[in-house]
Amino acid sequence: SGNSKVRNDERSKAAFEEAKKYLPGGVNSPVRAFKSVGLTPIYADHAQGSKVYDIDGNSFIDYVCSWGPLIMGHAHPEVIGAIQETAAKGTSFGMPTEIETQMAKLVVERVPSIDIVRMVNSGTEATMSAIRLARGYTGRSKILKFEGSYHGHADSLLIKAGSGVATLGLPDSPGVPEGVAANTITVPYNDLESVKLAFERFGEEIAGVIVEPVAGNMGVVPPLPGFLEGLRKLTTDYGSVLIFDEVMTGFRVHLNSAQGRFNVTPDLTCLGKVIGGGLPVGAYGGKREIMERIAPSGPIYQAGTLSGNPLAMVAGYTTLKLLTPEVYDHLEKQAAKLQAGFEKNARELGIPCTINRVGSMVCPFFTSSKVINYETAKSSDLKLFTRYFAALINEGVSVAPSQFEGMFVSGVHSDEDIEATIEANYNALKSL
Ligand code: PMP
Repeated sequence: SGNSKVRNDERSKAAFEEAKKYLPGGVNSPVRAFKSVGLTPIYADHAQGSKVYDIDGNSFIDYVCSWGPLIMGHAHPEVIGAIQETAAKGTSFGMPTEIETQMAKLVVERVPSIDIVRMVNSGTEATMSAIRLARGYTGRSKILKFEGSYHGHADSLLIKAGSGVATLGLPDSPGVPEGVAANTITVPYNDLESVKLAFERFGEEIAGVIVEPVAGNMGVVPPLPGFLEGLRKLTTDYGSVLIFDEVMTGFRVHLNSAQGRFNVTPDLTCLGKVIGGGLPVGAYGGKREIMERIAPSGPIYQAGTLSGNPLAMVAGYTTLKLLTPEVYDHLEKQAAKLQAGFEKNARELGIPCTINRVGSMVCPFFTSSKVINYETAKSSDLKLFTRYFAALINEGVSVAPSQFEGMFVSGVHSDEDIEATIEANYNALKSL
């Protein structure tokens, strides 16, 4: 291998040793431990805009962006200002606040499928609740999901999942009862024929289909033309609920989310990440007729002590207000430059690399084949990715430590950031 740079990580190493005494695996969310890449996690100290600074004094141009939420970069002054102002008035009341309605109104205006919306505290809660609602609404038990998709860690969705479970090679988690798993049907992403067969066999039992309209937990995999449209038709034909899990894609790939970008309207939509502006928020919404079956307007129960928390609402609201059409143009432009630069580097260095991109979600896969589902994503050279990752962080660029996660470009990644990142990519590839 070549001469990639050396990075001081003494303090991060010590912090991780200390953490392992008190936290399982040293972390509160698995992929943060850098286990699959065999490294010590980078301990963040602070961040501003496109850059994160660690406790050893290193800085990184950051494309993790807190795993998606920070679409306007770290510590955006307007977002921080709004949080501070709101916090001074009290952090939680257990009574409704007006900001919850303002936030809901904005989401309803922007997301085509959403007539009304319920706020929760994470993406996991959003998908778990949407599944319960689909089951309660249809009176059916089965759900259909796609291999390599991740919809949070609720039991019925933790089957052949992507993201961290794929990264750690734990496709079916212990602790999920067989009876629950038996009600989850999984088929390959982008494979409409398999969905059709599942409906022919189990049609009257399928409460809903849950899909990431752009798969973002097996790298980045765009929907093939006709795939989302086909799901829309099949679910309608069988009286099944179509759920778009837009926890990652919501407000990320388009002002009106993926459903606006692809012009397919689901029955229910799950949101998270961006709508929290860096604070813990999830949401699910959709057709009024379905959503009104939730308590207190209906009998299907779902609740939350901190749901609609004013700090989280104002952080999300302020972030969404910053997202103008100009921001989406910037995201598209910067991400396209990144993709072109990476493609050129790989070509020049003779390294097989397929780069998938939808808007500001970008993923270089170490394979020469097209990546259209989990099977093809897995054909990537994972060992090469591991070495690439190690070299890249030494070059001062932070990406998720997994081949099964994309990069997130933000509205504050500058031309200089993008150029420096393309150069870092070149150096990292060259060192392999
Ligand atoms: N759905 C999708 C598509 C996601 O990407 C994620 C998180 N990566 C989730 C659900 C779960 O969200 P959370 O981690 O906030 O529970």
